[in-house]
Amino acid sequence: MEDRHGHRISYLRLSITDRCNERCRYCLPEQKQEWLPREGVMTFEEIVRVVRVGASLGVRKLRVTGGEPLVRRGVIGLIRSLHAIPGIDDIGLSTNGTLLAEPDPEDGTGDTTARRLAAAGVRTVNVSLDTLDPAGYALATGRDYLARVLAGLEAARAAGFARIKLNCVLMRGTNDCALAELVDFAHTHGHLLRFIELMPVSRTDVLHEQSFLSTLEARSRLEDRFGPLVPRPDFRTNGPATYFEIPGRQQLIGLIGAMTNLHFCESCNKLRLTCDGKLRPCLGSHLEFDLLGVLRAGATDAQLADFFRDVVDRKPKEHDFRDGYQPQRHMTAIGG
Ligand code: SAM
Repeated sequence: MEDRHGHRISYLRLSITDRCNERCRYCLPEQKQEWLPREGVMTFEEIVRVVRVGASLGVRKLRVTGGEPLVRRGVIGLIRSLHAIPGIDDIGLSTNGTLLAEPDPEDGTGDTTARRLAAAGVRTVNVSLDTLDPAGYALATGRDYLARVLAGLEAARAAGFARIKLNCVLMRGTNDCALAELVDFAHTHGHLLRFIELMPVSRTDVLHEQSFLSTLEARSRLEDRFGPLVPRPDFRTNGPATYFEIPGRQQLIGLIGAMTNLHFCESCNKLRLTCDGKLRPCLGSHLEFDLLGVLRAGATDAQLADFFRDVVDRKPKEHDFRDGYQPQRHMTAIGG
């Protein structure tokens, strides 16, 4: 599928729940949460059917996300079903890492969730880690779970995923002094670290001068410590990061400048499916289309395929984050 701006769509991000066991300040602020009612959330059968249709149109890569995808029961079975869909050749998972080291109580083997995910067909995992300082971690996420995440990363390493990425959201005053420490940690453990600019997805005050830290500034702080970073435009994963090499090390780090990189949207290859079945052509736009409503009203696969094509046709040239964007849904209800 290709839109009218030349974006070629091969990547679908699937949010399987809006629920999360953390409360990151920039994503799902601490307050009484109104979760989506269960009947409004896509069943696994519905998700698999939609992905089957997407795959018939050229979707090759999936990312399972949330909310926290590992809080939804039965996720391993879902991954197995997605992995079996013809055309799907890459499944990634985004997680906060807190549950990766846990065995599944419903599974008698005692295997970690990480190992079961790998066996079910997850190729790569992205783990959110904003700081290695326990107090800073608790401040950023609203939960004192750093030790669980570190155990989760160890379980992920032991599970043998093809790649483990660490996602660090840049926050002035919270983790801006801890970036080099994360670089060293990623180097020691062989993880691919990416620094992400705050986006006004769930709230807008994240863009205030006292919270926002650009990738340019992060780069200059890293250069103070490591020397000039070496651009590596030849290195790409399926995502939006631009990569740099830390001098003297064979270590790459990614910078995701959603707010400051004016070319950010040019290579976008994604659609998003929210857990309540809305197909979204862009994270930073209010456009969303009720695929689940059409499916539950009895649409055929051919009609669902037309729906996909129509949404791709409406994909904007670029996001609206720089134009006074006012979020209407939390990131967890969209799928990060
Ligand atoms: N719970 C999982 C996790 O922690 O990765 C998956 C969902 S989470 C919404 C996916 C990613 O979105 C995380 O890396 C998170 O840091 C990022 N994210 C959430 N809100 C953001 C924001 N306002 N700006 C930039 N990144 C954000």
